[in-house]
Amino acid sequence: MYKDVQLFINGEWTASASGRTIDVVNPATEEVIGKIAHADRADLDRALEAAKKGFEIWRNMSAFDRSKIMRKAADLLRERVEEIARLMTQEQGKPLAEAKMETLGAADTIDWFAEEARRTYGRLVPARTPGAYQMVIKEPVGPVAAFTPWNFPINQVVRKLSAALAAGCSIIVKAPEETPASPAELIRAYADAGVPAGVINLVYGVPAEISEYLIPHPVIRKISFTGSTPVGKQLAALAGQHMKRATMELGGHAPAMVFDDVDVDLAAKTLATSKFRNAGQVCVSPTRFLVQKGVFNAFVDKFVTYAEQLKVGNGLEAGVNMGPVANKRRIPALEALIDDAVSNGAQLRTGGKRIGDKGYFFQPTVLTNVPLSARVMNEEPFGPLALINSFETLDEVIAEANRLPFGLAAYAFAKSAQTKHALAARVESGMLTINHLGLAFPELPFGGVKDSGYGSEGGTEAIEAYINTKLVTQLDI
Ligand code: NAD
Repeated sequence: MYKDVQLFINGEWTASASGRTIDVVNPATEEVIGKIAHADRADLDRALEAAKKGFEIWRNMSAFDRSKIMRKAADLLRERVEEIARLMTQEQGKPLAEAKMETLGAADTIDWFAEEARRTYGRLVPARTPGAYQMVIKEPVGPVAAFTPWNFPINQVVRKLSAALAAGCSIIVKAPEETPASPAELIRAYADAGVPAGVINLVYGVPAEISEYLIPHPVIRKISFTGSTPVGKQLAALAGQHMKRATMELGGHAPAMVFDDVDVDLAAKTLATSKFRNAGQVCVSPTRFLVQKGVFNAFVDKFVTYAEQLKVGNGLEAGVNMGPVANKRRIPALEALIDDAVSNGAQLRTGGKRIGDKGYFFQPTVLTNVPLSARVMNEEPFGPLALINSFETLDEVIAEANRLPFGLAAYAFAKSAQTKHALAARVESGMLTINHLGLAFPELPFGGVKDSGYGSEGGTEAIEAYINTKLVTQLDI
């Protein structure tokens, strides 16, 4: 059973003041499965008031106690994984196994940040003046506004929420309207674990109306956004105008470079698994496959075979490897990108079409020899679409990897130590994973460079984004 979702403000689940709601659609069936409360200005004002009050409570609780509450939330998520994963699959489309992995991964993320909460150390700097103590103190930045997308309904929230809580901040989360119930369950786990009223607030509504109101608001001291680069640039500009700190996790167009000294079967299978996960709706999804000439044909054959044997269907059904795309608008967007590539000379090796006319299912698609002038070589496809081109030299492939303004993730399969060192030094990306899929664990930095944004949502760096550094220098007299 799906659940209707309410706002969570000042420790209470409530309808919006106006009573307005938004429908939630299951992308596998196109049925309306529930409703969410639609926040208006009055609800946002209540959330701001609560976040202000919650911040004073939470920042004054010891890091030791905050950490204990957080760990309890992680345990509750683990206990509730079966129910939560079913909600996520119904609203987002991904196979149940992926939804479970995301929920359990969120529990690990909470545990990581619960540990970090106890390690926000300051330092003592040796003074020039005898008797002076120069103290560098770490303080929570204040109430946070977080805006998260629908592709990983829980994962996108848990990174921002847990880092903020670990640092001692309160937060207003604007979670995705398309996939509202699973992130609401994350917040329920935190509330049930004992996070005091006002510390976490959850709203849904019209994203632009909410961000335009919250970002400039004096109560909000920091924003964090995950989504597309154009929206990220607008929100970062607004944050800049009001001198608010910001973390931006934006789009990508990841290169996946395969050199001819590797096991091509392993490279093709590993990268194809990653490409079609969550129907390609992943900011770090490998997109431009750049394969050295000697293994190009073998790689394409293996990759196409893998794509063709994927079972596409309702994520609740056993054996399904790939669900629908989450939004209806993605289908014409993908079709247009494919048509444009083919009319520019690309070869369609498999897929290319919507499956059926009920549910937003799309065939796993592979294009080869795609000219750089094709739109899809320049815009993030955000769907089950792989582009495979060949290269000859290291310099050529690095130039192509760095050609676009994006710089989030990059992938490589290479054996030569010299090649691996060159890639590590010269590829312009926030993350590079070589010979395995090693991204996105809570203890690792996660973030991009160039148009892919700034700031990190993992590793020890992540909590810094929610902390101010204060100097207190004190002379004994
Ligand atoms: P979109 O640009 O309309 O929306 C992306 C996300 O931003 C959504 O969650 C949306 O609710 C939110 N958003 C949009 N305008 C906003 C505003 N003014 N204030 C606050 N939030 C706002 O795109 P879409 O059709 O939903 O998704 C497709 C594109 O979004 C992709 O091409 C991809 O680049 C990007 N995207 C990226 C990620 C990621 O993980 N980095 C996740 C989802 C979507």
